Amino acid sequence: MYKYRVLFEHLPLTIICVCLVIYFDNFNLIFLSLCIFFGYIIDIDHIFDYLLFKKKVKIDFQEFISGNYFKVSKRIYLPLHSYELSIILLFIFFIFNETNFIFVFFAHILHLLQDQITNKVKPLSYFFTYRALNSFNVNCVCK
Ligand SMILES: [Zn+2]
Repeated sequence: MYKYRVLFEHLPLTIICVCLVIYFDNFNLIFLSLCIFFGYIIDIDHIFDYLLFKKKVKIDFQEFISGNYFKVSKRIYLPLHSYELSIILLFIFFIFNETNFIFVFFAHILHLLQDQITNKVKPLSYFFTYRALNSFNVNCVCK
């Protein structure tokens, strides 16, 4: 069961952001979808890293969920797991002055902070720029 925690660990904080959208703007489907995407579904970018590792479009679910392919490939890209994306979402909030964007921002940054706290990573590892400057080397990301 522990190995499946990755499927559920981001649900509580995402649900809080979804509830805030509902509280402030009823059931605005656009922002509800954005909160669910940036708070929960962004882990879909693991598929990007997995497919680069496998070099074919076939997913072994057990292998995928284990995350062991990071150790073998020695690379971590995860393009959606980037504080730069959080900053862009915050800018969008300020530019459009739409309250719901702040909840999308919170959904994303809370996902990253939870990942950063629960994974054994170095402080800057959730900055895409940092990973790129270090050639996405797993040793520069993980402790
Ligand atoms: Zn994640």
